[in-house]
Amino acid sequence: MCGIVGIVDAGGVSFPLYYALYALQHRGQESAGISTFEGTTLYTHKAQGLVAEVFNSQTLQDLPGNAGIGHVRYPTTGSKVPENIQPFNFRYRGLDLSIAHNGNLVNTAELREEYERRGQIFCTTTDTEIMGSIIAEALRTSKSMEDAVLLCMRRLRGSYATVALLNDTVYAFRDPLGIKPLCIGKLDNGYIVASESVAIDALGGTFVRDVRPGELVRIDESGLTSTQIATANRKAYCIFEYIYFARADSVMDGTLVYDVRRRIGQKLYDVRPTEGDSVCPVPDSGIAYAAGYAKESGIPFLEGLMKNRYMGRTFIMPTQQQRERAIRIKLNTVRGNLKDKRVVLIDDSVVRGTTSRRIVNMIRDAGADEVHLRVGSPPIIAPCYLGVDVPTRTELIANGRDVEAVRKSIGATSLTYIPLEDLVEAIGCGEQNLCTGCLTGCYPVEINGEKSCHSIVDYVSGTHQSDLSTFKAGKGRT
Ligand code: AMP
Repeated sequence: MCGIVGIVDAGGVSFPLYYALYALQHRGQESAGISTFEGTTLYTHKAQGLVAEVFNSQTLQDLPGNAGIGHVRYPTTGSKVPENIQPFNFRYRGLDLSIAHNGNLVNTAELREEYERRGQIFCTTTDTEIMGSIIAEALRTSKSMEDAVLLCMRRLRGSYATVALLNDTVYAFRDPLGIKPLCIGKLDNGYIVASESVAIDALGGTFVRDVRPGELVRIDESGLTSTQIATANRKAYCIFEYIYFARADSVMDGTLVYDVRRRIGQKLYDVRPTEGDSVCPVPDSGIAYAAGYAKESGIPFLEGLMKNRYMGRTFIMPTQQQRERAIRIKLNTVRGNLKDKRVVLIDDSVVRGTTSRRIVNMIRDAGADEVHLRVGSPPIIAPCYLGVDVPTRTELIANGRDVEAVRKSIGATSLTYIPLEDLVEAIGCGEQNLCTGCLTGCYPVEINGEKSCHSIVDYVSGTHQSDLSTFKAGKGRT
């Protein structure tokens, strides 16, 4: 999972890109990068670390220009090496291309082999470089980004929300099923496209709409235009964005994520009304769910866990002992809110089960009488190949275990997951428009050795339809 942003703004873009990436930091903490273009030069600064560690005011001043893109990385493909940090730059016949991608391709190996057979040399191990090669190949013959994105959509299998900077023009496109989110905002003197609407809010911009699945958006100094490159018979919005990944204050494909989570919390009570003395969220992701559960049940919302928000990434600690210690620093109990209580503990998901087990133990150690775990997703039984770091089947605690076996393993007094139909109802767009691969083992794109639910994609070939009448905007106009 990663965060992407593209901005064209007459007042310069490096600082706005920086603040937008800051708002998207939850989508990736491994590395960050920005590319901008001015005159005839493409400028890039990227490094490992958090946004605030990678950039300072000098590095931002050294990124001039009114058009640019940015990326925060959470590694799903390609190892954690500096050459895999995005954006990636390509130079062809006087054209400078920089691209940044959120998602995961599932036919990278085939494409890579084909391109290597033709003599192409790759500098990284990421799927994004393949996308760059396909775009560059199309640009070599046609110079039209529409043709390049059409070729991408025909050839790439998987999820991709992509921003590209071609000289001083920003392009953004979303795979035909819309698996990864991408939205458009209006700024005072330009436009922004970003993974989540919180990046638009951070810049004081106005949310315009989501980029449609299969759509290519072009932004330059004269405004924003759009071309529908492909259309599919369904959508496949990533269900895990709603469950865990997106910020609760983001509006995603028409729905405020906080509302979805609150509705799930309400439904969690309705499917199994439980007596308790307090509703306690696992911070931060469980908070909206717990608000809904507390409202529906009438049981008081009472925080029994506090998160240290200044703590970095625990998973990079090299030893188990160090990781255990890091978790204790990251999360602590509020003993007075837990002692002698029947606690209804709410979390968004259980993946490996190690976090839940540890938290249930901490709450029991703090003196709770009972710990009833309520989970905002159904059991996660299958890996994600489309951009979320959900591990292999053998690592998933719910794979091959029934709910009672998971409960025992975690040590909770009782355990209830939200049923899939309730989750889908809480999101509101219908199961046929969601990717539920990690919950059902059935994926919206073909993946070797896995079950796939059929999706049909039509491509606009030859001339491309431009819906300028509904979506043309000059500089400074909405
Ligand atoms: P565990 O069951 O130990 O694997 O941890 C699950 C918890 O980690 C969930 O409650 C989420 O808050 C969080 N989580 C879930 N999925 C991911 C993911 N792909 N990457 C990082 N954290 C995650």
